[in-house]
Amino acid sequence: MNVRAVVTGGAGFVGSHLCERLLAEGQEVVCVDNLSTGRAENITQLLDHPGFRFLLLDVTEGLDVPGRVDAVYHLASPASPADYLRLPLETLLVGSYGTRNALELARRHDAGFLLTSTSEVYGSPEVHPQPESYWGNVNPIGPRSVYDEAKRFGEAITMAYRRTHGVRTTIVRLFNTYGPRLRSDDGRAVPAFITQALAGRALTVTGDGSQTRSLCYVDDTVDGIVRALASGHSGPLNLGNPVEVTMRELALTVRGLCGSSSELTLIPRPQDDPQLRRPDITAAVRELGWEPRTALDEGLRRTIAHFREGACTGLPVHHEEAAPALA
Ligand code: NAD
Repeated sequence: MNVRAVVTGGAGFVGSHLCERLLAEGQEVVCVDNLSTGRAENITQLLDHPGFRFLLLDVTEGLDVPGRVDAVYHLASPASPADYLRLPLETLLVGSYGTRNALELARRHDAGFLLTSTSEVYGSPEVHPQPESYWGNVNPIGPRSVYDEAKRFGEAITMAYRRTHGVRTTIVRLFNTYGPRLRSDDGRAVPAFITQALAGRALTVTGDGSQTRSLCYVDDTVDGIVRALASGHSGPLNLGNPVEVTMRELALTVRGLCGSSSELTLIPRPQDDPQLRRPDITAAVRELGWEPRTALDEGLRRTIAHFREGACTGLPVHHEEAAPALA
């Protein structure tokens, strides 16, 4: 019997790659999305697939999927700082009501459930690298709290459904992920630098560029997500690339790979922007046999190729002017 999986946020960047991966494994996929930060273009290639179905709906308003459901991958949520700062209330609601509705769907169908939480639950970390046992340093009332606290609530309600209703839940904390289908206007550093370098514009590095991120290629992230749900492990499990890079190094690497001679311009750092970000992936290696395989140069080359083909556009309504390079 085929597994039938629901992917909320399936028309987004990570979700569309996850849908493809599950279909390639022979699973049936119901992709649920309201297209608020995702793009229909991300899934047009899947619409003719016999195992694929798309439901246009907002998961904060309820989530009823006709037919059998064996697995629920709950990814729906704005994810880039530019998006969640533009959609603060929607972000809180999808993290709370949306997660509750996705958990209810899993409970009704006795399905496995996976929440994509985030490294942002660690806030501006005082422990480096971050293991899952670190409880974080989050400003609960700052502008970024709409995302950080929504995800922290999402983790709490997921654990409560596991303890109260016995739902087979898994929490993964994704660190920065990049790859084809990132929107050119989503504001994160990789798409911003690539778009700027290819256009011959200055690359906007925030602060002095010494802040670090660790960047995981999307195929590796998706592989970790699939392994995590299959493992039945409750998590939380960090999924990210422990290779750390400063924003300045990243800008220079992207510029080099794009063959660009653009300048680097320093612009102010946003409030509560973390200085350091690197996952401790000991638990994922031990529990899932997972670790990232794609080197940064290789992943960036593949991503840049998609941008060059014009395949990574923005949302129909553009916010590009207001989008600094955040990560
Ligand atoms: P994305 O914005 O590309 O995708 C999110 C998708 O969710 C979009 O297609 C959007 O339209 C959809 N969505 C949002 N609100 C919805 C709602 N109320 N109802 C239905 N659909 C809704 O973001 P992404 O980068 O693909 O992130 C996917 C998930 O992974 C998110 O939960 C995010 O928090 C998590 N995550 C991503 C990263 C990363 O680096 N990409 C890092 C940490 C965590």
